Amino acid sequence: MFDKISDGFKSAINKIRMKDDEKALKKALDELKKNLLKADVHFKVVKDLLREVEVETKKAGIGKANFLKALDKTLTKILTAPGNYGFVYASKPPTVVLMTGLQGSGKTTTTAKLANYLKEFKKKKVLMVAADLQRLAAVEQLKQLAEQNGLDIFYDENSKDPVDIAKRGVEEAKEKFYDVVLIDTAGRLAIDDELMNELIKIKNEVNPHEIFYVADSLTGKDALNTAKQFDEKLDITGVILTKYDGDSKGGVALSIAHQVGKPLRFIGTGEKVQDIEVFVPERIVSRIMGAGDIEGLVEKTSAIIDEKEAKKLTKKLKKGKFNYEDFLNQLEQMKKLGSMKNLLGMIPGMGNMLKQLGDIDLENSAEIKKIKAMISSMTPKERQNPELIKESASRRRRIAQGSGLSIQEINRINKQFQNAAKMAKKFAGKKMPNMNELMKM
Ligand code: GDP
Repeated sequence: MFDKISDGFKSAINKIRMKDDEKALKKALDELKKNLLKADVHFKVVKDLLREVEVETKKAGIGKANFLKALDKTLTKILTAPGNYGFVYASKPPTVVLMTGLQGSGKTTTTAKLANYLKEFKKKKVLMVAADLQRLAAVEQLKQLAEQNGLDIFYDENSKDPVDIAKRGVEEAKEKFYDVVLIDTAGRLAIDDELMNELIKIKNEVNPHEIFYVADSLTGKDALNTAKQFDEKLDITGVILTKYDGDSKGGVALSIAHQVGKPLRFIGTGEKVQDIEVFVPERIVSRIMGAGDIEGLVEKTSAIIDEKEAKKLTKKLKKGKFNYEDFLNQLEQMKKLGSMKNLLGMIPGMGNMLKQLGDIDLENSAEIKKIKAMISSMTPKERQNPELIKESASRRRRIAQGSGLSIQEINRINKQFQNAAKMAKKFAGKKMPNMNELMKM
């Protein structure tokens, strides 16, 4: 996610790796400056960062370790603005959130992403309110997102008054004991008084705890300027940066807190509802410096693992009874985690390797597609018992015909699956596979 910036830091650090005199420090700082400007980090941010890193490094004594420490500290400071980080709940529910931004910035999509994130990872009851009555398809779009992802929505196709919808949406959330209510408001192609007045009216009516400004990363410096203007009028509490996946430079993310004076809270990294990342300065710095983000990884994975289900599965594994249905369930669970590449990027040391891997699309990999086609041609009994397939040639023939795979492929996949179940049986319940046993397999 922060490839370019991360590379820029690494090549600067290399300049000071061998030598540790003033000349080496200057070279490192020059390299950093060049790379940060190339990544589109705002020049004022670059200036402040360099000055502080230089002062801190000299104070502690020029050398790689002190340079790294100074970078870490200064970058964290640059990325931090007064306000909340992550999602913060009101002391008394529901937490009311106003989603604002220009048309096309990704506001409606982000509303659904945030609702899904809070529901799946934080186990919250979330209501989305469709108060964007400016863009014709916005209500329909939010309805579809709600339906596809099992999210709750409040809308009224007969109303023309966004202030009224917002107000009724919040009332509904109170009556039905929602934890969070996200109000999707109207955007415009550019900032105008009419839009601002509508937003101010909604703000005065519902007293939101948070006002997020949704900014399109691809608009570069404009994203910072419009965020500032929204902040002047509405006093926003945070920025969400979308379309970061398409931003080859990435520097806007480093400039927001410093330039707008409000924290960057979330980053949108794709079109799917799962593609959203929490922005926590310390963790991001760790990722940029190549140290991964174990905390973020644990938070993501632990939230989707249902303890009871996990125990049931372990029991099954111990008996060697892992079947095709369990396989599909596990795939579904994995989907909730979002992009595999992003997830792997959180593991320390993986950052560099990922570039060679390209994008890993688990769901659409050729092998997974084959297995899914095969499973969809099985009877429920076969899904629960791979042994049936092994025992019967006529079953294999039928599955091959149904799935469009060859009999050989069905044999190979089923054998592979049964081997995997056997291996899982050996390891289930043990903390770590024993190297000796692994070598024997
Ligand atoms: P709105 O007018 O602000 O409500 O914008 P939409 O939510 O309709 O988003 C505009 C377009 O941007 C849609 O095609 C979205 O799929 C796309 N989009 C939103 N967020 C992201 C993101 O993080 N990454 C990518 N690649 N596309 C995004």
